[in-house]
Amino acid sequence: MRIDLHTHSRVSDGTQAPAEVIRQAAAQGLDVVALTDHDTTEGWAEAGTAAVEVGITLVRGLEISTKHNGQGVHLLGYLPDPTHEPLVAGLRKILDGRNSRIPAILERLNELGIAIHADDVRRVAGAAAATGRPHVADALVALGVVRDREQAFDELLSPGRPAYVNRYAAPLVEMIRILGEAGGVAVLAHPWGRHAPSGMTVDDIAGLQEVGLIGLEVDHQDHDPEARRALAAIADDLDLVRTGSSDYHGTGKKDHELGCNTTEPEQFERLLSLAADAAARSRRTVPEVVVP
Ligand code: AMP
Ligand code: ZN
Ligand code: FE
Ligand code: FE
Repeated sequence: MRIDLHTHSRVSDGTQAPAEVIRQAAAQGLDVVALTDHDTTEGWAEAGTAAVEVGITLVRGLEISTKHNGQGVHLLGYLPDPTHEPLVAGLRKILDGRNSRIPAILERLNELGIAIHADDVRRVAGAAAATGRPHVADALVALGVVRDREQAFDELLSPGRPAYVNRYAAPLVEMIRILGEAGGVAVLAHPWGRHAPSGMTVDDIAGLQEVGLIGLEVDHQDHDPEARRALAAIADDLDLVRTGSSDYHGTGKKDHELGCNTTEPEQFERLLSLAADAAARSRRTVPEVVVP
């Protein structure tokens, strides 16, 4: 069983349509794949149809932009009812923040003497529901300003670089609660990744577990072997689910190929069982997991 619980499509900042991600996952021999676009569930329907066609199990998920103790934290949510009103409202607010940030970034770039306009970003972002810095990066590549996304982030778009602009993120604890009320489960994405330089402590994680967190993404490309061992030990001590995943972004992110990290079947079974409990408690209609 090969299980990959974190991937992105063009609906956010991946580079393939949801159906293409699913087809590729099946072609590469994965048995289970979760589509977890940033702050939107818009890819679920297309991914579901493709999953039935190719006979792979799809876990409907998303990666929510949150904030905790002044730090950005990515939260993976699996199998919530996507119509739960507080979830819809929370995601709407994040997506509004994403959209209003783009003009501010473009203004910074213009001040730096780089001629880039909203149309340039629109062209590369296509129909993406969640626009972000990666799309600005792609526009800069298309204009020949930089070589790739990496260089755009390193020189211009990362915090501390001249075209960086902050945006709204939802309070982490509130989002964990909302996911639970929606009948889903919450897992911390890459808790010690490069975008969270100071990292979460055991106490932080234990506190989040008290409000409903069920797991940690341990095996992720941002974690070196030592970090993986330490995080796995924390997860085992606290009895949290350990996941592993690629954080695939198509050609948008290097060294994140589908299935490059995977989740152990026993851990996945636990995640599903906790999701079933949450669904029962919430009495909401949650999406199906197993695709026949
Ligand atoms: P945003 O969502 O607009 O704040 O942009 C952050 C997203 O950009 C992350 O979730 C990653 O998917 C992507 N990202 C961050 N750093 C890089 C990088 N150096 N190269 C490519 N993509 C990146
Ligand atoms: Zn991304
Ligand atoms: Fe992330
Ligand atoms: Fe991600």
